[in-house]
Amino acid sequence: MNKIKKLYDKYVLGTYTRQDVCLVKGDGVWVEDSEGKKYLDFFPGWAVSGTGHRHPKVIKRVSEQLEKILHVSNNYYNELQGELAEKIIKYSFKGKVFFANSGAEANEGAIKLARKYGSPDRYEIITMERSFHGRTLATLTATGQDKVKKGFAPLPEGFKHVPFNDIDAFISAVTDKTVAVMLEIIQGEGGINVADAEYIKKLNRICKEKDILLIVDEVQTCMGRTGKMFAFEYYDIEPDVMTLAKSLGGGMPIGALVVNEKHKDVLGPGTHASTFGGSPIICAAALGVFEAIEEDDLLENVNSMGEYLVLKIEELKKKYSMIGKVCGKGLMIGVKLDIEDASEIVAGCVKEGLLLNCTQKNILRIMPPITVSKENIDTAISKLSTVLEKL
Ligand SMILES: *Cc1c(COP(=O)(O)O)cnc(C)c1O
Repeated sequence: MNKIKKLYDKYVLGTYTRQDVCLVKGDGVWVEDSEGKKYLDFFPGWAVSGTGHRHPKVIKRVSEQLEKILHVSNNYYNELQGELAEKIIKYSFKGKVFFANSGAEANEGAIKLARKYGSPDRYEIITMERSFHGRTLATLTATGQDKVKKGFAPLPEGFKHVPFNDIDAFISAVTDKTVAVMLEIIQGEGGINVADAEYIKKLNRICKEKDILLIVDEVQTCMGRTGKMFAFEYYDIEPDVMTLAKSLGGGMPIGALVVNEKHKDVLGPGTHASTFGGSPIICAAALGVFEAIEEDDLLENVNSMGEYLVLKIEELKKKYSMIGKVCGKGLMIGVKLDIEDASEIVAGCVKEGLLLNCTQKNILRIMPPITVSKENIDTAISKLSTVLEKL
């Protein structure tokens, strides 16, 4: 561990704060560090390893592709990109897909699409306070949190932030320059805030009336995390644009921009590109993720295990008064704690062999792999309880 840390200290840019752990192996809901210690991973790779680490179906697909070819440029066809796009469309809405490599890139594509669509008269994009859309210049501008913007001025023009779940604020922000609204149906970084059904319904109606693009950022909520393949399915809407990343690749880097039928030709030849986007080795992994969800009935597992996890947290709440509101959907759970800073709880859990996250300083974010079992949840709750006991 010391040797590993030394190399980071000397050669890796210090943009992250890290726990003092080097993870070297992963298998399902479990990971192991360089000292051989095992952890139950209830925040796998910031939701990237949503189907668990090294899911057998992902490994199988990737291994088969390894024997053929790793990368094919987008000047040629590859065997898998169309197959993956068809899968995504089957579960979302009629339209077409562009492949990128990350969530920020997918959102950058969505922003470009909106600008192109509105050009030259309409360019304003409304986003939500407490949202998170990425760290590129345009996506950090779209993000409704000042901490990601500090020091990066001048920022691109044309973004407006409004409070989430506040339809009047949205209506007041719309002008004849508004071309799109971009939002997370459930805010992740913002503290697991779920959109109200009535709010989304009205937002959708206004968008359709005024020809404003409805862009949903499902980078964190996609691939069954909330109990449906995509979180927008809980609402009676059809987005114009949806962005995906994180768990879509089962541990491999991918982003996707999904565009509905009406807007599928806005980005034509030469308007957008990505060298790595949609490479066959990555598409193979994503196809493995779809197979896992379909063949192992994982959406059903998310719903039953989500309920069980919330039940167990509610039980803990009776014992520990610092536990406040529990929110979320499926296996995307936020637990508000009545303390200033929950980072010592996260650190305590690491010691106990449980990996979790905390966001907005005092909200525990619990997002186990969607393959999680009752037994795993019991183990996690017992570890968390040990940590709370010691406080
Ligand atoms: C993580 C995240 C992003 C950014 O994704 P990257 O792959 O880190 O660029 C964008 N939107 C949401 C909702 C996210 O959770």
